[in-house]
Amino acid sequence: MAGTRSTLRTVGPGRKPAALLLAGALGLILADALGAQGFRTRMRFQMGSLTEITVPDGQYSAQSVSRAFDVVDRLDRLLSTYKADSEVSRLAALGKLRVSPETMEIAEASLRLARLTGGAFNPMLGPVIALWRQAEELGRLPSPEALEAARTLADFERVELDRAAGTIAFPVRGMGLNFGAIGKGFAVDKAAASLQRDGIRMALVTSGTSSHRLIGRPRDGACWELGIRHPGDAERAVTVLRLGPGGLATSAQSGRPREIGGRIYGHIVDPRTGRPAEPRSPVWSASVPAPTATDADALATALIVMEAADGMALVESLPRVEALLVRKNPDGSPRLVWSSGLTQQGTLDGLPLIVPVTEIGCMDGGASSGPAAAAGEQPLRAQPETQTGRPPPPALNRW
Ligand code: AMP
Ligand code: MG
Repeated sequence: MAGTRSTLRTVGPGRKPAALLLAGALGLILADALGAQGFRTRMRFQMGSLTEITVPDGQYSAQSVSRAFDVVDRLDRLLSTYKADSEVSRLAALGKLRVSPETMEIAEASLRLARLTGGAFNPMLGPVIALWRQAEELGRLPSPEALEAARTLADFERVELDRAAGTIAFPVRGMGLNFGAIGKGFAVDKAAASLQRDGIRMALVTSGTSSHRLIGRPRDGACWELGIRHPGDAERAVTVLRLGPGGLATSAQSGRPREIGGRIYGHIVDPRTGRPAEPRSPVWSASVPAPTATDADALATALIVMEAADGMALVESLPRVEALLVRKNPDGSPRLVWSSGLTQQGTLDGLPLIVPVTEIGCMDGGASSGPAAAAGEQPLRAQPETQTGRPPPPALNRW
């Protein structure tokens, strides 16, 4: 499915046709910054959604792009909870399994992010998510007893990872991993790494319209411009983020709604209750720019679950991580809330243009591409405010 510039769909008020690329439902890509150069986008259906890889014509190699897609296919085979023979499914069935390096790596990243988010992102929700999936099939809500039993199995501190032996084990039968909230981010990071190994210096890798890895810059010194979807209109953007290389993920309540007994339920679970985070959560969508899409993806999901102030405090404690929340006013209109490392710099086509003031932004003239980007692969750890040297967060609601 190789395409040319003419295959791009457009979005947003007042944008010239073909200036923008909207990656789809959640999301959000304006690829305006691709500028005058031609580029190709190829798509493959993977992990239950579309992976899209966009590379400039001058760097395009069919083999390299196919190799990157193959990386994602392999991850899908290893990590899917929909495939009975995936490592994740076999691990759940057997209680202990020697796993591939990729599965170990995403499990380790997931546990780190689960601790970082105080369990708001919890990769051990496997049994809880299975219950909701079953409820959708049966058209009947899970019983409170079944939900409580599944919830008590979601204790991520009890997972046993043995890196030397390459095994993952659960102490209790019925426990299970689910990488639904991080897998797409991990996949686009790995696909991007494969492209980079092949010498591609500029690309956009997207999975499911929600997880993105940006390689390089669209032009020298230019930035990626990504539209964030309007909560009330899938064809409109509510704001534009201008970013340098790195990861970006968006989680939204409406990401994959399920209907049970005539009611719509969100797909993000509050691990404290085992129930969908909405309607309690006032956050309609959370977008996180971060050094990697893996971290961005898990954090975006966590921000839907966490109280907005707690979520923002966490983001403020993490170097090179920002967040943009879209909340819904009672009248349905959107309200934007963003972290202190983001600032509004005027408007673009009538939309607020939001840019990072620090390294992950586009104002460092390219310093975050190339070797410096590799430093971005360091695992995120919370840092005390004094170490990050950031000013204290100003009032959250600015628009
Ligand atoms: P995302 O769209 O990245 O927010 O991921 C949502 C998916 O992750 C859901 O469809 C579930 O499979 C899974 N999930 C739901 N709630 C959580 C949670 N609190 N922590 C981790 N995974 C979750
Ligand atoms: Mg996520």
